[in-house]
Amino acid sequence: MFLTDGQETYMKYKSTRSNYAVTASEAIVEGIAPDGGLFIPTLIPQIQISDYMNLSYKDLAKKVLALFLADFSQEEIDACVDGAYDEKFETSNIAEVKHLESYSVLELYHGRTLAFKDMALSILPYLMKTAAHKLGIEEEIVILTATSGDTGKAALEGFMDVDGTKIVVFYPSDGISDIQKRQMTTQEGHNTYVYGIKGNFDDAQSAVKKIFVDDQLKSKIKSKGYRFSSANSINIGRLIPQIVYYIYAYTEMLKGGQIKENELLNVVVPTGNFGNILAANYAKAMGLPIGKLICASNENYVLSEFFKTGVYDLERSFKVTNSPSMDILISSNLERYLAFIGEDVKEHMARLNDSKKYTLSSRGQEALKDYYGNYATEEETLEEINSLYQSGYLLDTHTAVASAVYKKYLKESNDSNKTLIVSTASPYKFTKHVVHAIAPERLSGSEFKLMKTLNDLTSVKIPKVIEGLENFEIKHPKIIEKTSIQETIESILR
Ligand SMILES: *Cc1c(COP(=O)(O)O)cnc(C)c1O
Repeated sequence: MFLTDGQETYMKYKSTRSNYAVTASEAIVEGIAPDGGLFIPTLIPQIQISDYMNLSYKDLAKKVLALFLADFSQEEIDACVDGAYDEKFETSNIAEVKHLESYSVLELYHGRTLAFKDMALSILPYLMKTAAHKLGIEEEIVILTATSGDTGKAALEGFMDVDGTKIVVFYPSDGISDIQKRQMTTQEGHNTYVYGIKGNFDDAQSAVKKIFVDDQLKSKIKSKGYRFSSANSINIGRLIPQIVYYIYAYTEMLKGGQIKENELLNVVVPTGNFGNILAANYAKAMGLPIGKLICASNENYVLSEFFKTGVYDLERSFKVTNSPSMDILISSNLERYLAFIGEDVKEHMARLNDSKKYTLSSRGQEALKDYYGNYATEEETLEEINSLYQSGYLLDTHTAVASAVYKKYLKESNDSNKTLIVSTASPYKFTKHVVHAIAPERLSGSEFKLMKTLNDLTSVKIPKVIEGLENFEIKHPKIIEKTSIQETIESILR
């Protein structure tokens, strides 16, 4: 779809729930549309892979972001990319593609918080600052973030001490790994605020989304010199940088001879809020030869069921699993996919709200053929880690869910396309579960002691950023009721 302004045709971002449309800068600063919808690009740029060959990650990112950020200059984009993808990443390649016997793995966890969230959250603060400057925004931007464990830390690191911003994070106090929790509660920075809530990720995300559309609260804080924005993947500024690594992985595999020109590549994505796999969906729509999009869920399998049945059904109980960053029932970004396939988003969201369930139109059901959805149980996840460990590769629980689901897909389909598994976290972020999988007899002591055990068992080094984590000073000990999220925010912004 094109929006025209006089003679010019350029990309804007419109709400999934109305025709409200803004520039890229405005979409990034606003985070969510005033009608509660999410911003989506009004057109999908098309690419030729040959134009993207032999580029470093950063150079490729500069080209891809320029396609989407129509009101940013190339100089501005270059500065954002150069600032974000620096020596904070453990590998100068930024993302690594490894080739195992049955598939390739795209390792996205070499950033400073050890999860793929760093791929987008290291650049979002730069994009946001640039956008705010272009728009002449004077208020301080308050980033409200709900996290299932990884977004919080990555957002805190990204926005720490960034002038003109404050960052407030809410994490479920039970249900994240000790390492994730310690990473957040020890956060430095004069503008950082972290709270555990007595509730789950969905509680945190719903409360935060409600605040974004509360006009009264928004004008109240505006009078004090603040405005809200989001670091969650509801912000389009999170999604666009994620498209980059799919194109990068494809060019790397082409260069390495793992695939041939135009060969279809399946991608398997361990999925929670549907942000990562949606970026793959956009890359495919841009012309990247992606075959099946394989959506891997854990036992909170509302999404994999959706891809099987075309029905999104929230009526189920929430389970805390050993892949906690995917413990989500309300996958926000699916709303963007509904818009992508031409569904009546507003109608479905209304149904979800009043009867906890919606069903796709028959045309929508047809579109689901691009996808395969399935889930892995906690037990299957552990078995998968152990089986890969035996053959010499260490993966975390989330990536193991993807690997186990891929094996189910192969059994059902006999699809012989090459496949890329997206690896979303370092095994050290979920040390306890990983040790449980590969050497249950060694499972004793704290998660910090187990880091040493895992290091003994494998040749994989403990990432520098979490060395000594157990001795860092706890700066954010507070746990609050889920009903006091708004009150807590107001008390920060007094
Ligand atoms: C956030 C996260 C996911 C889920 O990604 P979505 O974009 O929310 O689908 C999977 N694995 C890990 C380790 C994560 O941190």
